[in-house]
Amino acid sequence: MKLNEKQLAQVDAQIKRLLETDSYYGNKYRELGITGVKTQEDFEKIPFSGKADLRDAYPLGIQAVPDEEVVRIHSSSGTTGKPVIIPYTAKDVDDWATMFARCYEVAGITKKDRIQITPGYGLWTAGIGFQAGCEKLGAMAVPMGPGNTDKQLQMMIDLKSTVITATSSYALVLAEEVEKRGLKDLICLKKGVIGSERWSEKKRQAIQAGLGIELYDIYGLTEIYGPGIGINCEKEEGIHYWDDYIYIEIIDPKTGEPVPDGEPGEIVITTLVKEGAPLLRFRTHDMSRIIPEPCSCGRSYPRIDIIQGRSDDMFKVHGVNMFPGQVEEILQQVDGVLSEYVINIAHDEDHNRDVILVTVEAEGRVDFEKTGAKIRELFKSRIGVTPKITVVPFGTLPRSEKKTKRVIDHREM
Ligand code: ZN
Repeated sequence: MKLNEKQLAQVDAQIKRLLETDSYYGNKYRELGITGVKTQEDFEKIPFSGKADLRDAYPLGIQAVPDEEVVRIHSSSGTTGKPVIIPYTAKDVDDWATMFARCYEVAGITKKDRIQITPGYGLWTAGIGFQAGCEKLGAMAVPMGPGNTDKQLQMMIDLKSTVITATSSYALVLAEEVEKRGLKDLICLKKGVIGSERWSEKKRQAIQAGLGIELYDIYGLTEIYGPGIGINCEKEEGIHYWDDYIYIEIIDPKTGEPVPDGEPGEIVITTLVKEGAPLLRFRTHDMSRIIPEPCSCGRSYPRIDIIQGRSDDMFKVHGVNMFPGQVEEILQQVDGVLSEYVINIAHDEDHNRDVILVTVEAEGRVDFEKTGAKIRELFKSRIGVTPKITVVPFGTLPRSEKKTKRVIDHREM
């Protein structure tokens, strides 16, 4: 999907503004002799930005406005090294809340709803994003933050929360607890807005059934405002994103070349009106594709498919590229297998080969040995690798409130 004329003018204006600053990108684009963009070709010559740039610019090198215009910063959870700091102006904060409120509206949430917010507050963009969008919409926020499941359930019942916002892992924890404690008749939840990460159909069904709710995938990342730049509609055919605030292109993660609409690749985002920290061609490492056809819901906002995983989660075993999504699709087909799993990959030096161990949870009613054999066969026929399979009882694998690490690659150590 190409930039339309308005978007092109917005990108051009952002570049010209950056060039007037002493910021990281102002200096970088000056050095590269970038003066603006008139065409798609000009735009595609702009180098990608990435997390490494933002770390180099630590702490506030990317700030593109005077100090007095910055009202807030957020930080993304870096696993290694320096964190990434993103400064926001009052307009950025307001734009973000407007986008987020639009997400709630697409999910059919109104002023009358009570939104229980379980993602974390603080430097992270999650909790406060859900909150600001809720207030912009005019609904009632129940700002719980993460953890303390006893209290979450008590507030959910006493305050009659109608919407739950959570990571998929924590929504599953809540669904399991509601079921275990027999609380389903006491809760009033109708909808769940879940931070978009790759999660399996099985997990979705477990959350839907456990809490009796409709689920919506909200998309976003701290570097680009935070969650709220897109959400799926009631047709569940991909994620609408707000092309008046962001431009999305899909690239081949290996070559960096844009791929044709409809083909899978990495999401690259350009902010169109951001003031505090504009980003051009920011590589998200999230894998998806543009859905070129108009949505049957009638909304004209363009769409990407649900997130298919992280380009960094792509792992190679015996020379075969694999995604967690493919593993999930296999597990969904086996009777009695649950949605939680972990993959360990190691290298067997003696035999000079990779060893892949898949640990899955299954219901007690099925034969674990036969279930393991079935999964192994599916891996062999679908992906062309033969892993070792360990089947463990339900509840054995760790649950987490943050995004769960599914693939542990011991070969890197
Ligand atoms: Zn739609």
